[in-house]
Amino acid sequence: MTVAYRKNWDTYFMDIACMVSTRSRCPRRHVGAVLVQGKKLLGTAYNGAPMGVPDCSEAGCMVSEQYEREIVGGVETMVKKQRCIRTIHAEQNLLLFTDRSDREGSTVYVTDEPCWTCANMLANSGIVEIVYLRPYRKDMEKVEAMLGSKGIVFRQLENYEPPKETMITVSE
Ligand SMILES: [Zn+2]
Ligand SMILES: [Zn+2]
Repeated sequence: MTVAYRKNWDTYFMDIACMVSTRSRCPRRHVGAVLVQGKKLLGTAYNGAPMGVPDCSEAGCMVSEQYEREIVGGVETMVKKQRCIRTIHAEQNLLLFTDRSDREGSTVYVTDEPCWTCANMLANSGIVEIVYLRPYRKDMEKVEAMLGSKGIVFRQLENYEPPKETMITVSE
């Protein structure tokens, strides 16, 4: 008799966040986020255009170009980046669709490290822990510093294999 492998809670909830991310219609980035309170799933969200508004699959991405600081080979350089600004980020949608009372003391699992705006909003949302999978280098330093000063547990899930076919190649 074989004993079935049982997923731990981190794996269980990150698997759900990965599945949720497949609902995204932005070809540039698929992000999923879930709200967990005491091992109970209280909300799911992904990045997307507001309801009733054409999304990236219908209207194309709304690409914004900007120069951003980046360390290339140990040297700080300004690099031109393209980002899609059509969508509401998964973390922000999660806040729009959950109640404050449900968020107090809760954990957010998200497939990508939150950007500065999302991290700032999460920091003021009642949640006490953020677990992410893929790093997002652009805002990493200031996000980590801010969440640290706020006392929010912020950690990357390591030694984790996402469910097959839920991960798309991300254009940085
Ligand atoms: Zn898009
Ligand atoms: Zn964001």
